[in-house]
Amino acid sequence: MGLSLDRMALDDVGANPARIAAALHDQLKNCEGAVPVFEVATALDIMEIRIEALATFEGALVTTAERGEGSILLNKNASRQRQRFTVAHELLHFLSPIHRPTFANGFWCSRADMVERRLDGHDLHKRQEAEANVFAIELLAPRSHIKSYLRGAPNLGAVVEMASSLDISKEAAARRYVECHGETLAAVFSRNRRVLYFDLSRDFPRLALGKEMSLPRLCGGSDERPLGAMEEVPADDWLSTPSGIAMEAQTLQQQNGYAMTLLRVLVGDDDEDVGIDDAYERFSRWSS
Ligand SMILES: [Zn+2]
Repeated sequence: MGLSLDRMALDDVGANPARIAAALHDQLKNCEGAVPVFEVATALDIMEIRIEALATFEGALVTTAERGEGSILLNKNASRQRQRFTVAHELLHFLSPIHRPTFANGFWCSRADMVERRLDGHDLHKRQEAEANVFAIELLAPRSHIKSYLRGAPNLGAVVEMASSLDISKEAAARRYVECHGETLAAVFSRNRRVLYFDLSRDFPRLALGKEMSLPRLCGGSDERPLGAMEEVPADDWLSTPSGIAMEAQTLQQQNGYAMTLLRVLVGDDDEDVGIDDAYERFSRWSS
């Protein structure tokens, strides 16, 4: 029951990673739930996918500059979900007409590369890594597959369900959730209460946090009940310019001290009213 895919047709799409993923989904047709990414790679001239002890890398694509064929290496210490993401990531290095190997025998990608987001940087390696990540999430969690998780008030419970149904990590699901949800959200990833990194939706205000900084008081989430409730938190714990902003936060405790926190900025009629009142008050004060 081998999967049959047309690599030539993908070549016609150009270099945009999201468009390559969409073209691949057109070929996969009614694929629902978890995308069979190992089979997809194998159907596109990846000869071998090997799981190995990789000291400092999360994955690699061993290939030539022409990329007639290739092999993918995966870090054996990574979870299956992370390995699936890495296969998708390496697949873009293989398919993109503009990617250039940054090592003599192909592409070697670190854990940091797997969360690289800077698409517009001058560093070729980082730009290629960011593109591979765009492709990976578009392939594993296309917008058409995740709509039902984006309905209703933001909640990490939906992230957990989305991760499980698509067989991706909760971390990747949270990043995708923040990116695609219509509300003003951020996901903060931490270990032992120190910030690892965060992802913000486009209109999210500047966070008063940096890498390695201590997290503000964590809201909910415990060993007995890993998923806390979404509850109101003081904006000045989290934001550089907190004035007039109401916020909620929810934390999911994970294994080995890892946690993720979903932040939500509450915007609504109330906030606008406050703004108008403030302006009116200032105006009245100055005019009297
Ligand atoms: Zn890479």
